[in-house]
Amino acid sequence: MTLEEEVVQICQDLIRIPSVNFGEGKGDEKAVAEYVVASLAEVGITATIYESAPNRCNVIANIPGADTTRPGLVVHGHIDVVPANAEDWSVDPFAAEIRDGMIWGRGAVDMKNTDAMILAIIRKWARTGYKPPRNIVLAFFADEEAGMTFGSRWMAAKHPEVFAGCSEAISEVGGFSVTVGDGKRLYFVEAAQKGIHWMRLTATGRAGHGSMMNDENALTALTEAVAKIGRFEWPQRYTSTVKTLFKKIAEATGKSYDEKDLRPLLIEI
Ligand SMILES: [Zn+2]
Repeated sequence: MTLEEEVVQICQDLIRIPSVNFGEGKGDEKAVAEYVVASLAEVGITATIYESAPNRCNVIANIPGADTTRPGLVVHGHIDVVPANAEDWSVDPFAAEIRDGMIWGRGAVDMKNTDAMILAIIRKWARTGYKPPRNIVLAFFADEEAGMTFGSRWMAAKHPEVFAGCSEAISEVGGFSVTVGDGKRLYFVEAAQKGIHWMRLTATGRAGHGSMMNDENALTALTEAVAKIGRFEWPQRYTSTVKTLFKKIAEATGKSYDEKDLRPLLIEI
């Protein structure tokens, strides 16, 4: 079996285990975690399941590097998926069927595909005796789709020792290539996403019976505030990460790049 065939096989196996996360604590990663453990055991790698709540399972394995004095790298993926309503699908979301050269199913792009790639590569390393340059902590987390309460958050809070000595972590989104000129392929690593900031808005007004006119309605003030926030044009800036990206693309494509030529953003800080 080629490495690619193994990735496809593992991805299909993973999709066929419906590790659906319904949110509000309702999820089940047990079967998929056991699959990951068995898949690693097959090539002699011992992995441990950390169960944060009944059937909420995280899997950890250590891959020693050639230079164990270097700080380690956490390579992680989540093994839960969001729900799928089969009626909305043209294929069975948990059948992982191959059509038009693609695997179809829940988790095929988020992120059982990457889990499968990680597993297949680690299995190949084990079979061929390859050692990565530095130690790798392999982590497959539960509950990523609903706030990580039973997954990475729980692991970091309850078992920080698992990540001791690691200096970086990498997971989704990454691993897929973008083709630039001359068939050259770039592999991007996403460094951050737009964040969220929860707010509690309080408004006061005048209470009164529903039959009466009220021009001091607290609800009206609240909805106006929400609309204002929604319409606000937030400042934008080129972060150092974005500037590095432009520089590297210029290098790869042989184009000249000068930071001074960057188009001014609509609203700057
Ligand atoms: Zn994801």
